[in-house]
Amino acid sequence: LPAVRDFTGHDPRAVLHEVYGYDAFRGDQADIVQHVVDGGDAVVLMPTGGGKSVTYQVPALVRPGTGLVVSPLIALMHDQVEALIANGVRAGYLNSTQAPAERQAVEQAYLAGELDLLYVAPERLNGAQTLGLLSRGRLSVIAIDEAHCVSQWGHDFRPDYLALGDLADRFPGVPRMALTATATPETAQEIVERLRLRDARGFVASFDRPNIQYRIDAKVDPRRQLVQFIRSQPEGSAGIVYALSRKTVEQTAAYLASQGLDALPYHAGLDASVRAAHQSRFLRDDGVVMVATIAFGMGIDKPDVRFVAHIDLPKSVEGYYQETGRAGRDGDPSVVWMAYGLGDVVQQRRMIDQSPGDRSYKMRLGQHLDAMLALCETVGCRRQNLLDYFGQRSEPCGNCDTCLTPPDTWDGLIASQKLLSTIVRLQRERGQAFGAGHLIDILRGAKTERIAQQGHDRLSTYGLGADLSDQDWRSVIRQLLARGVIVAQGDYGTLALSEASAGVLRGETPVPLRRDALGRTGGGGGSRQ
Ligand code: ADP
Ligand code: ZN
Repeated sequence: LPAVRDFTGHDPRAVLHEVYGYDAFRGDQADIVQHVVDGGDAVVLMPTGGGKSVTYQVPALVRPGTGLVVSPLIALMHDQVEALIANGVRAGYLNSTQAPAERQAVEQAYLAGELDLLYVAPERLNGAQTLGLLSRGRLSVIAIDEAHCVSQWGHDFRPDYLALGDLADRFPGVPRMALTATATPETAQEIVERLRLRDARGFVASFDRPNIQYRIDAKVDPRRQLVQFIRSQPEGSAGIVYALSRKTVEQTAAYLASQGLDALPYHAGLDASVRAAHQSRFLRDDGVVMVATIAFGMGIDKPDVRFVAHIDLPKSVEGYYQETGRAGRDGDPSVVWMAYGLGDVVQQRRMIDQSPGDRSYKMRLGQHLDAMLALCETVGCRRQNLLDYFGQRSEPCGNCDTCLTPPDTWDGLIASQKLLSTIVRLQRERGQAFGAGHLIDILRGAKTERIAQQGHDRLSTYGLGADLSDQDWRSVIRQLLARGVIVAQGDYGTLALSEASAGVLRGETPVPLRRDALGRTGGGGGSRQ
């Protein structure tokens, strides 16, 4: 280990060089560091890989006292602290995974003024004990990492973050920082209010990740599409495949392995030793594909992840941005790809319906999903849509699927009216509601047992949509659901009209639909209209 050194009062740039071996600050780093070293508060919005750590670690080293880092990522604290110690920094952490003796040693070091950085989990700061301890020592700076967790409406809310605003009163005169890699303008405002950072200076980096290419395809046969996508990447590329459930993770990993790919599963239900082994193979070896739930990735520092794939729809744009952001941290070209379909929309609406929580909470979840769907269905530039969501204006990028191959649109009014009238007739005449599959069978004039039993071949819309394929109809329904022209209800995702249906039924609302671009035979429908 390098000798422990005291950097108090040193020049930040010299510290950057001596401790980290970097030649210069990047982007806003120098300004942020200087502002905090001078005692100012700061709100830092910077994408993953932007270099946030340096902005609080250097002030903590330069200012007298200990820098307090609040981080929810308990699993990473140990590694982060080890890395700092390996660089000659006096660092420690306090969390629930620690043995009492170890905790006491860290507390003693803090009180003796022998720590430059102290990492603490947010729940620790809810109790009088840790706060009392901190008051008896000397803090140089308070850094609240993953600050978006304070947002009650955000995708990552942690109740313990709400108490962190009190640190302002407890430690007056200690500069405070809030840092995050995902914040919409609304979330940023919430961070400022709740963490009492009204006088803080804001530092907002561009959220653009220019080396990442964004691609979203309609889901037809996700496993086959996934293999095709992975094979289209340079040989030996490391990547992450995200799925929603543990079961899908395991099945997908097994399938990829059966196709000769070096794929491993990762989710919270696996043994800790298995998880650790898979993670270290992913970090160490070339070309490993990690199939994982979103439990994987937080704080994984692998700069050369070449692709990230989603085979299930993320719940929010924030989540999507965070997960895709794990690609290409080294700045080299990387591709993120998602397969998304009707089933995803139905499933997520159902999950929101069934989630515990009051009406306004569900409404917020619905808004998160709507923003995600808008990104999926846009005929404009994906990057522009994404950056706009984070309040940043930009031009079409020329490096996403919609820029590279502008999607065709077709006039979906008649098709939509056929679908809506079928739903209306079943509801009014028979008091019945059905999911997409049976409605498509009716429209396409299928001869199924269920249709015969129900006498649905006598409906006036029976067979009226035979000009479109099953796949085309799924695309129509998916897009209408995404726009709220119809809604999916209950356990079976039965389809019903919404307020927005009326305009379409009357022919007053235009319904331009996206023709799904697919590596499959046949287009998205309009050609045969
Ligand atoms: P974030 O926390 O914003 O995701 P990190 O602090 O982990 O980002 O930094 C991302 C990467 O950039 C790390 O590998 C880090 O070593 C590197 N890095 C940060 N600042 C600099 C710099 N000034 N010069 C060179 N590399 C840097
Ligand atoms: Zn684009």
